[in-house]
Amino acid sequence: MLSQGETTSEKKLKEKLAMLFQITELQALIDLQQRSYRLLRWVADGVDRGFLSFSTAHRHSSLPGSAQEWLREHYQNIPENARPDPHEVERFCAFFTTYLTNSFDLHQAPGQRRYSPDAHCFCPMCSWLVDAPHLQTKKLSNRDKRRAHNLRITAIKHVAVDLGEPLEDQGIQSILDTRDGTVDASLIAYGFDLRKRIKGIATGPAILSLWRSFAWHESGSPNPEFELQAEMFVQAELQVRHRLTNDRH
Ligand SMILES: [Zn+2]
Ligand SMILES: [Zn+2]
Repeated sequence: MLSQGETTSEKKLKEKLAMLFQITELQALIDLQQRSYRLLRWVADGVDRGFLSFSTAHRHSSLPGSAQEWLREHYQNIPENARPDPHEVERFCAFFTTYLTNSFDLHQAPGQRRYSPDAHCFCPMCSWLVDAPHLQTKKLSNRDKRRAHNLRITAIKHVAVDLGEPLEDQGIQSILDTRDGTVDASLIAYGFDLRKRIKGIATGPAILSLWRSFAWHESGSPNPEFELQAEMFVQAELQVRHRLTNDRH
């Protein structure tokens, strides 16, 4: 409980310190995401214009391993805003590969050669990158959407447990019944997943579904003005906290 003399700003500060998400951590994660996006665009451009070749054979057979090998090899050529700090290569590559596998399908039909005729490297990273100009955004199945829904529920439960609030399915459902509540829960779930992604854990297209819940218009079209910001996660968490506590009073 609040003591009598506590001011609103003190209360807000206390609240923020106890948050699941901290701004600096989120900013670092969002930065990795933006660099991943720019790197993929740069690679697509490089393949289209022919300034990137895949003739060096990479040794790694895992996607994160070959991604690191590839990135270190090309590091000096990659624009500064599309590459990580040198000490962050490992984290970045883990993240980057989840961006690929969560969001895209390789263009070619299964069983087809996954490299261009003049490419010599068969490693998982090069197989993705030679295809960069043609990557298709994943189509979301009902299963992906159900999974996203469950991730939202888990996110709200996390907030409730953190607050010491009792868990009631009804309360969770009433949050998810509103557009704002769905957006907030999607942001929180997406934030949890960002932390997994730096470990190379790809949850799959359900994450794309979460992303669309807040980055797209409700009508189902992309919102070109949307830009993910750390403060959005903090606001979402505060909103869900308030809904969980106000519901009972
Ligand atoms: Zn190479
Ligand atoms: Zn390779």
